[in-house]
Amino acid sequence: MMWKLPKFLNREIIKERNYPRLCVYPFFNMMLTADGKYKPCCKWTDNLKDYGRELTTEEDSLIDAFYSSDMQDLRARFLNGQIHPACQVCLEEEGSGILSMRLDSFDYLLKKEILKNPHLKRLDLYISNICNLKCRICSATYSSKWIKEAQDTLGQEAETHHNLTDANLDDIRKVLPEIIELGLFGGEPMYNQETLEILTYCVENGYSKNIQLLINTNGTIYNEQWVTILQSFKKVLLNFSLDDIDKRFDYQRKGAVWEKVRENILNYLKISGFQDKSKIESKICCTISIFNIYYIPEIIERFERDFPGMHIYFNFLHGPYALSIKNLPIEVKRIIKQKLRTIVINNSIRKVHNRTIQNIYDFLDISSNVPFQAFFDEMRRGDQYRKENFELIFPEFWTIIKNFEVNKNNR
Ligand code: SF4
Repeated sequence: MMWKLPKFLNREIIKERNYPRLCVYPFFNMMLTADGKYKPCCKWTDNLKDYGRELTTEEDSLIDAFYSSDMQDLRARFLNGQIHPACQVCLEEEGSGILSMRLDSFDYLLKKEILKNPHLKRLDLYISNICNLKCRICSATYSSKWIKEAQDTLGQEAETHHNLTDANLDDIRKVLPEIIELGLFGGEPMYNQETLEILTYCVENGYSKNIQLLINTNGTIYNEQWVTILQSFKKVLLNFSLDDIDKRFDYQRKGAVWEKVRENILNYLKISGFQDKSKIESKICCTISIFNIYYIPEIIERFERDFPGMHIYFNFLHGPYALSIKNLPIEVKRIIKQKLRTIVINNSIRKVHNRTIQNIYDFLDISSNVPFQAFFDEMRRGDQYRKENFELIFPEFWTIIKNFEVNKNNR
């Protein structure tokens, strides 16, 4: 597969490093998934195998996975300038001019020795699928609250609660002394007892002083216990997943209430922004899907007003496929682009967001073989089960898309 350097990339930097098609993640990172599998990073579209056998957290240790045949193969490919087919998300993002995780990984290339001698220094833990919310863009794999709905409406019988076993926790404890960055994902990591156990272990054994913690949270949890733990780590990056505001937020993140989450974030900002800014940094992560794409200008404006100065990071939903903005009809994409263009022309957003707007244009230009009807089917399925009404919550966008619904059987 041809690897094309994205336009914005500083070619000199890459040339200087001599590895123009490199990704550093497989040389120092390992990820445990919520359903008990291993990956080299969160973007990889496959699970790791060792000579064809899929590795599981039940049977294989972190170190087994880190030195598995798939990982050796992946590293060899990168060093030979080849891209692995399971890296397609990074490839696609770079093709749209987006700073992919692969390109971000160069920040970790502090010592080139790591390429010769891979060493596990970073962990991404999807500790479990235990979650207190049932977000529209999620699934039973990542949220325990989704399990019953998936079983009742999608016939998904297999999904159950996933959680790390005591043996898995022991395995993690063994590598913690070497870890410099720990990413916690979910489910909701701050809602999970095992997360607290691991972090408390880090604090009690003095490892927390050397670890940068990265937590992706839905922002529903704020309490003194968490504040004390976070303040014990070398540094904390708190990423709040906020995809919308007000009633639309409540609809998309079932179980959460916008005002409460907003209040929690402001509380975290107080401890991070005023006490020790260098220690806890907060960021908003907004995932762009069909649900919120039309409202991005209003969302940016409100985030800027409610959380002044806070960094906002936008990323694109890749799955569930039915909810990806790639599937929107050309006419709808044109209306959305027009709306985005207006805010740029009117200077109604900070210049820093112009790059995001350009990324959205580029991403909207990607075509898809998933019919737009899949969105209506999924939205109707959810509305019917949850007793909600998309049309009432998103009236402006509904007016634009309603005529594209061809199969109204789910109504
Ligand atoms: S290129 Fe992307 S998907 Fe592949 S290992 Fe690197 S970060 Fe992961």
